[in-house]
Amino acid sequence: MYADFDLLVPEKLDQALAMIAGARSARDAAPLGGGTNLVVEMRAKGEGPATLVSIGRLAGLRGITIGDHRVTIGAATTVSDILRHPGMADAAPALVESARVFAGQMVRNTATVAGNICCGSPAADLVPPLMALGATVTLQTGKSSRDVALDAYFTGYKASVRQPDELITAISWPRPDAASTSRFYKLARRKGDAITVVGVSVLVAMKSGVCTEVRVALGAVGPCVFRARTAEALLRGQAPTAERVARAAALAAAEATPIDDIRATGAYRKEQVEVLVGRLLNQTIESLS
Ligand SMILES: Cc1cc2nc3c(=O)[nH]c(=O)nc-3n(C[C@H](O)[C@H](O)[C@H](O)COP(=O)(O)OP(=O)(O)OC[C@H]3O[C@@H](n4cnc5c(N)ncnc54)[C@H](O)[C@@H]3O)c2cc1C
Repeated sequence: MYADFDLLVPEKLDQALAMIAGARSARDAAPLGGGTNLVVEMRAKGEGPATLVSIGRLAGLRGITIGDHRVTIGAATTVSDILRHPGMADAAPALVESARVFAGQMVRNTATVAGNICCGSPAADLVPPLMALGATVTLQTGKSSRDVALDAYFTGYKASVRQPDELITAISWPRPDAASTSRFYKLARRKGDAITVVGVSVLVAMKSGVCTEVRVALGAVGPCVFRARTAEALLRGQAPTAERVARAAALAAAEATPIDDIRATGAYRKEQVEVLVGRLLNQTIESLS
């Protein structure tokens, strides 16, 4: 059963921003992307925002631009849009890998990138690759706009720096060059339509046999998706010997604080973080050598 709510469908961004301008909490007014999270939750709980402001018809919020130096995707870009774009396999290999194992076809066709970030789930599949890619989120109100690094966006379980009157309008990251690559792996009961048990994404950049950049993002093993910074620091500026990669993977596992739930124990999740981080680091390093 749904509680009563108003559905507003603006055609212009300034109209949408005006509609959420007065919101003091998500119970007043909330943006509506594909509704694959919000509407499902509203039905399950029998409560939700008094007003939903659809972003589906806002011109300019859906689409992918691959520039010389930056890749930008509009907030309303869907998971299927990512898979259909011919340039994304080069511009964001890890993001394409996560889109491939995301839900089923019908959900992929409507689920948006901003919705995945804003649902705040530690198991949200697009977030680890976007974090590994070094993504920035653009948050806009009727009066101002600010860019927040995705790795500084989450403040806890389903908590973030986003204010109720802010709309995510875009997500962007530096266009990777030939000296870097990224991977994502979703450990789950099935490849699609299953909640992630452990999600791992890594990005490695190499020059003259040394790792010039390393980012490791972990999903479903803490209150929110986060970067395993001690693991990254151990490899950054170093030659990635087998021993150093194994130590970095162990450090990543030490940073994870997973819970036990019906899908897996915390201990199993921790063990798998070490296995998967080691595997993805080795795969990326090998492909760059
Ligand atoms: C059957 C099924 C399978 C699923 N499988 C997966 C899966 O494999 N992996 C996965 O990660 N998720 C999965 N999900 C969850 C869900 O599909 C995703 O989180 C999806 O990306 C949510 O996007 P949406 O556009 O539908 O968001 P919505 O449901 O529309 O919104 C989610 C939240 O984001 C807010 N929001 C939306 N857009 C904006 C914006 N531009 N600015 C600010 N706030 C915004 C809303 O107010 C709401 O709080 C699944 C869901 C279902 C029903």
